[in-house]
Amino acid sequence: MRSRNLLLCLAAIAALSACKRETPAPAATEPASVAATAAIAFKDAIDPADFAEHVRTLASDEFEGRGPGTPGEDKTVEYVRAQMQRIGLQPGNGDSYFQTVPMVETRADEHTAMDISVKGKAHTLAFGTDMVIGTRSGKPEVKVEASDLVFVGYGVDAPEQDWNDYAGIDVKGKTVVMLVNDPGFHAHDESLFEGKRMTYYGRWTYKFEEAARKGAAAALIIHDTEGASYDWDVVRGSWSGAQYDLPAADDPAPRLPLQGWITGAQATTLFADAGLDLAQLRAAANKRGFKAVALPAKMSVDLKSTSVEKQSRNVVGILPGSEKPDEAVIYMAHWDHLGRHADEPGDNIYNGAVDNATGVAAILEIAEQFARLGKPKRSVLFLAVTLEESGLLGSQYYVAHPLIPLDKTAAVINLDAMGVAGKTRDMTVVGMGSSELEDILKPIAEKQGRALHSESRPESGGYFRSDHFNFAKAGVPALYVDAGDDLIDGGKAAGEAAARDYNEHRYHKPGDEYDAATWKLDGTMDELAAVYAVGLEIANGDRWPNWYAGNPFKNARDKMMQAK
Ligand SMILES: [Zn+2]
Repeated sequence: MRSRNLLLCLAAIAALSACKRETPAPAATEPASVAATAAIAFKDAIDPADFAEHVRTLASDEFEGRGPGTPGEDKTVEYVRAQMQRIGLQPGNGDSYFQTVPMVETRADEHTAMDISVKGKAHTLAFGTDMVIGTRSGKPEVKVEASDLVFVGYGVDAPEQDWNDYAGIDVKGKTVVMLVNDPGFHAHDESLFEGKRMTYYGRWTYKFEEAARKGAAAALIIHDTEGASYDWDVVRGSWSGAQYDLPAADDPAPRLPLQGWITGAQATTLFADAGLDLAQLRAAANKRGFKAVALPAKMSVDLKSTSVEKQSRNVVGILPGSEKPDEAVIYMAHWDHLGRHADEPGDNIYNGAVDNATGVAAILEIAEQFARLGKPKRSVLFLAVTLEESGLLGSQYYVAHPLIPLDKTAAVINLDAMGVAGKTRDMTVVGMGSSELEDILKPIAEKQGRALHSESRPESGGYFRSDHFNFAKAGVPALYVDAGDDLIDGGKAAGEAAARDYNEHRYHKPGDEYDAATWKLDGTMDELAAVYAVGLEIANGDRWPNWYAGNPFKNARDKMMQAK
């Protein structure tokens, strides 16, 4: 159905829903209710079995956990390409559905030991059980010998917060040891930073970036499950096997020779042998004016790694706009996951059904509905990015090499790890209070009987842990939604139990598998319908939604749009 006349097309949608659901057609002129009606029509048109089939395929053992640079990648990107072509999307990168992403694959020797002598007493930490370590330098051998250890609290230098854990100390050539999350977190002091909500300073990526800027030879983060919001198994699993990076040319930020994590138990022992109480030091690190503490300890590591230059692929399909094809809305989901860990016994395929076969299935279903309805005014780009699990690298590369100029990109909608626990009375907007995209979403969700709220665990830093963050950093308004946790069937208690079960037993574990018996997709379809309607409204409109005043990314957007 070709719809140049929006009203005609919307009347058709309204008619569709009316015949099936007897819902009274809303006044078709007011965008919000038009979008809300579109959401209902979407739910009528979509078949959850189709969605499930995409997930079943992408999360099958045959796809081997969709590791970048592996046969699992070849199967995955070919599947997504074929589906985009079947749906009627055009190639999004000239005549190709692929955007090549250069990457460096590094494998650390996991027999590497870390020697730490404390007041002359030797400690040998083993890879995987006591610590994990790696290098982003691309060097085959990195040797650090007798490097002085310095405890730098949270390792944060935040001028706007008037906080600098590196004040008055030179850590060049030294090994900094630090805590995960934000100052204030472990003391539950909500007066510091953004209280319970983790800022980017709390993310492990920031801590290594800052230590590199300070010229440290190595940086070690002390793991604690509460602070990291995941257990040691997740750290070990993510740091074992192949690690991926963009080549230095594509990611010029300074890099540490060595970086890694140590277990809380190991850190406590080391500090005790140094005559220090880690718990006391941690309390001090949560106070303004904290001063870094040099430890009577030295670290030595001889890390051998193999590095190979490889390529991965973002998959891109486009539905060209009818009136403003040079402007676009982007739907994005990462296709990659943790692959197969051949050296692990038993089930060693990290299938990544929730994370993120659901997101890829979602953008394919949304693309199908857009294609079914004919061309909107603006183009709609469907972007399945690679290397998310390795540090949001596929989207970082896309933002550095956009296929649609960023100042022509009206919005990005990111889907990562959708809810499969059933219908809810609410919907989560990660980082809620950020942009006008939420104003478009709100009436749509309300029409679905759902209230919007921010993520229930802001301390876990969800806003920095998926691909929309790279677009946000560049200024492009980005929306990242998640399932609600107030289940129709069982309420908040059931929702929290489902989230806990996923986090503890399946997040970044081989157990993240598709299960037709327990998955409830009615709630998932609501999520899809809502984000579909948001994109539809923007794709058929003239608006340039912006960040709210005071949002850290607004400046970049305003500058970008003024320069146009
Ligand atoms: Zn994910």
